[in-house]
Amino acid sequence: MYHYVRDPRPPFSAIKARDVKAFDGQLDYIARHYTVVRMQDVLAAQSVPEALPSNACVLTFDDGYREHFETVLPALQRRRWQGSFFPSVASVCRRRVLDVNKIQFVLASASDVDALEHRVCALIDEHREQFGAPDAAALRRELTERSRFDPPGVLFIKRALQRLLPRTMRSRLCDMLFREWVTTDEAAFADQLYVSVAELMAMHAADMFVGGHGETHEWLAALDHDEQAREIDACTALLDSVGVAPAERVMCYPFGSWSEVTCALLRDRGYALGLTTRVALADLRTDDLFTLPRLDTNDLPVSAESPLTEWTRQVLG
Ligand SMILES: [Zn+2]
Repeated sequence: MYHYVRDPRPPFSAIKARDVKAFDGQLDYIARHYTVVRMQDVLAAQSVPEALPSNACVLTFDDGYREHFETVLPALQRRRWQGSFFPSVASVCRRRVLDVNKIQFVLASASDVDALEHRVCALIDEHREQFGAPDAAALRRELTERSRFDPPGVLFIKRALQRLLPRTMRSRLCDMLFREWVTTDEAAFADQLYVSVAELMAMHAADMFVGGHGETHEWLAALDHDEQAREIDACTALLDSVGVAPAERVMCYPFGSWSEVTCALLRDRGYALGLTTRVALADLRTDDLFTLPRLDTNDLPVSAESPLTEWTRQVLG
């Protein structure tokens, strides 16, 4: 699972990304120890898992960033590999900067996370009555989760703005913070940040795989049935317009969030697979096809000469 694949770019050098050299080094490591297969091979192996080599590897790229077209596509083409790309509809089709990305770029722009946290709490307390939201202190108590990547202050900012506050309030605050800390020209920023529909079509025509990643990149499990259905139907419409065959519909859950409702909706709409962010090796013989786990790019080394990690040893037996 990859997200940003880019070298540090001022003024957003703090964006957490796999840099291009390390990306290529990781592809070397993967070339040495794995067999990169196409998503269509995985779909065909649903009924015959033995058809896939035991070290089969699918490369997935979430969020539809421009560098997936500019950097990743040529890197994969040089190796004759397929990548699977999962853009969210609102970013690609309506040139909206997704709230998840607004939060990332606000965080990357803030040299002082404590000051940003203060500002976020002040905004929450200023607007909470209008939206019937709890105050910042109560929200903080509600957040018991720990992250393997983010310190508590950063995780609080992310979760408050991604999930804990009411949806319309979160969106409003993300807008305000993005304008304050990053830019007032959202459409131009989106043009720089995301692939276009034409680029997605070109990638699909180049035998890359394209799947769904929600309309607005919400935690699907936090949405009701109808809201989830709208998110999924928007993805289906985008995939149809890109030319993805109905039998090749795959959903990659934003934030890895899904519920039984999500899986039922996807089955009903002819989707074949669902990808989560649970960190584990996928086994088509035993795993539920709608909640397949993935390794993160941080779970594998970034050079061909690196000693085998535990994940790779498990695959090679
Ligand atoms: Zn995502």
